[in-house]
Amino acid sequence: MDGFRKKTVRDADVQGQTVLLRVDFNVKVQDGKITEDARVRAALPTIEYLISREAALIIISHLGRPKGVADKKYSLKPVAELLRQLLGRPVLFAGGCLGAAVEKQAAALCPGQILMLENLRFHEEEEENDPVFAGQLAKLADIYVDDAFGMAHRAHASNEGVAEYLPAYAGLLLESEMNSLSKALDGQERPVVAVIGGAKVSDKIGMIKNLLDKVDKLLIGGGMANTFLAAQGCDMQGSAVEEDRLPWIKELLCGETAAKLVLPADVVAAEAFTADSAHKTVKPRDIPAGWLALDIGPATRQIFADEIAKARTVVWNGPVGVFEMEPFAAGTMAVAQAVADSGAYSVVGGGDSIAAVNQAQVAEKISFISTGGGAMLKFLEGKKLPGVAALENIN
Ligand code: AMP
Repeated sequence: MDGFRKKTVRDADVQGQTVLLRVDFNVKVQDGKITEDARVRAALPTIEYLISREAALIIISHLGRPKGVADKKYSLKPVAELLRQLLGRPVLFAGGCLGAAVEKQAAALCPGQILMLENLRFHEEEEENDPVFAGQLAKLADIYVDDAFGMAHRAHASNEGVAEYLPAYAGLLLESEMNSLSKALDGQERPVVAVIGGAKVSDKIGMIKNLLDKVDKLLIGGGMANTFLAAQGCDMQGSAVEEDRLPWIKELLCGETAAKLVLPADVVAAEAFTADSAHKTVKPRDIPAGWLALDIGPATRQIFADEIAKARTVVWNGPVGVFEMEPFAAGTMAVAQAVADSGAYSVVGGGDSIAAVNQAQVAEKISFISTGGGAMLKFLEGKKLPGVAALENIN
């Protein structure tokens, strides 16, 4: 895997320049209150770097899915307020992201000042990667910096589009995301163990394919393990099995890389998909009629923990059970603990895995926690990220 070969803010002469900074401030907001601010904190190093070098900053982001309509529920105003608190300096807020008033505010910015624009997705042109919209954003600034790793797998006007018009550099977060993921897959620190969970196998086929070529062991848990177990001939009873994926998995299980796969040897099966339903540990072949497999069992927890303990690099994406329900959280907590205890270089991503790492209180022991679920997935699929591809190459 190639290293990160893009110019970063450190290569840009930003002093006295107006910088258009794309961040991913797509935080969770409930009743106007931000309930999870990790993505804002993750962008602070780039913001502080630019301010300390006397750039004038215009910060742009999306929030939620307003689908091209100005909907107050998705306003970035509370995020601008949070940023003001975290930075301890004023953050101006524009009521829109385009138009004469915004252009005036942008032109009046002095070095060290910050102006945050309203949600880009209030305009459908953003997701359509409309070149006119991108050109209007670009007109506000001299330089473009992209720190929005969380949307780097999308080609939108505010990343790929704008980069057509302005000198385009990577922010410090984007750089460390790319370097951390590259390091995890470059095979320098073996064995490399990947733990993949989550609801559906269909979402993760590309990632499984690519990882099987790169890792030494691939541990499969979560809802998607049910389809693997069904492919091995187990009757998974009430568990969701993706029938259309069975041929692909059967082929995989007969292929050269099959020895790398580690599937659950036991599961926690429940009578229903509820926290208070009857449940017990069984072999995958012995799930009671109509019951569902909702977590890996204790024998599998041990097998997974042993593999992770041997690893020098661990990549983890997706919970191995329905960890939101306490009776089915033990598997995911055991994985979190094992990754933390392994001392291996570890990269964890995807909203649920991050929540699990926090729940297990082991976040400080993880080498790198990715801010981008979808972008991380695309990276692990071995695919090009359009937001990154659009940035200036190092010559
Ligand atoms: P994903 O977004 O694909 O990573 O899936 C995450 C979701 O998968 C979480 O909400 C988990 O509750 C769910 N999940 C994990 N294990 C299972 C399982 N055995 N059966 C059903 N859902 C599961």
